Amino acid sequence: MTHLHFDHAGGLPDFPHAQVHVHRREYESMLRPRHPLELAYDRADFAHGPLWTLYDRPDEDWFGFEAIRLPFEPEMLLIPLFGHTRGHCGVAIRDDAGWLFQCGDALPTNAEFELTPNWLNRLAIGPHVPRLQGWASDHPEVRLLAGHMRQSFFDADPQD
Ligand SMILES: [Zn+2]
Repeated sequence: MTHLHFDHAGGLPDFPHAQVHVHRREYESMLRPRHPLELAYDRADFAHGPLWTLYDRPDEDWFGFEAIRLPFEPEMLLIPLFGHTRGHCGVAIRDDAGWLFQCGDALPTNAEFELTPNWLNRLAIGPHVPRLQGWASDHPEVRLLAGHMRQSFFDADPQD
């Protein structure tokens, strides 16, 4: 999970036996919300007692980001992008087409960098947009996703 807000974790009760991999800071943030954005956790999403696997130590570098390797296939790493919540992370996933970087709520909708002004981004989604913008232009081979994508993204012809 990138983070545990209701609009990301609301489906967890549908998978009661799932192992939930999340940063330890995010788990603790959900237990003890402090910041106004952390009020978007809904305890009902966790009432079934998820099987948590918590991580807190970056153990490698992934294209310049501190990264935490997850112990399974496909290859996947948690990339700490704290700010939207105290424990928010991106998730890098390697599939047959290469790397996919799910930036969760650290990027504006549809990963469109100019969508909202920087001051609003800093307040709502954290400080990472400028860095991710520069990083994305240096790494066009990595596909970036935001946590909230408009339908047009899924409707687009992948050949375009
Ligand atoms: Zn969120």
